[in-house]
Amino acid sequence: MIIGVLGIQGAIEEHEEAIKKAGYEAKRVRFVEDLKDIDALIIPGGESTTMGKLMVKYGFMDALKNSDLPILGTCAGMVLLSKGTGRKQPLLELMNVTIKRNAYGSQRESFEKDLEMKGVGKIHAVFIRAPVVDKILSDDVEVLAMDDDKIVGVREGKYVGLSFHPELSEDGYRVYKYFVEEVVKK
Ligand code: GLN
Repeated sequence: MIIGVLGIQGAIEEHEEAIKKAGYEAKRVRFVEDLKDIDALIIPGGESTTMGKLMVKYGFMDALKNSDLPILGTCAGMVLLSKGTGRKQPLLELMNVTIKRNAYGSQRESFEKDLEMKGVGKIHAVFIRAPVVDKILSDDVEVLAMDDDKIVGVREGKYVGLSFHPELSEDGYRVYKYFVEEVVKK
């Protein structure tokens, strides 16, 4: 089981460490050709507008829209999986959700809290300028995690989007196990 990490921007090494901790092989994806060597892809956090533009430039937008590779998008990665953010920015549009970016505002740039995640259990979640799911546009979208009234984790088929950063918490590797066992292998 080889999990690729899109190596454009964000906490790339931390994802690779978490993948190894979960017991899988990690591979950095720099070029579209690298996609053929992996079983699933992680799109890390970062700044989604910049990441999207770079993904267009390097051909990842078209390649991923036309592939059936399972994808886990964290933070900006979830933004990129979505259908819209209310702003003009390149998106994969693979998940039937819209996103509110920086949903916690500038007063709460980052915070950590324990959450319940479906298929994972209790998990320590790190939020950094986090987006949340604004609207769910299809019955196929399953809510995986909530922070009070905010939707912070979703799954639709082979795609999973999370507002938080599983690569930054001690127990976050369990999210990759869930992703591989319940999403990639199913
Ligand atoms: N606020 C960023 C965006 O919407 C995401 C932040 C993150 O990935 N940590 O692009």
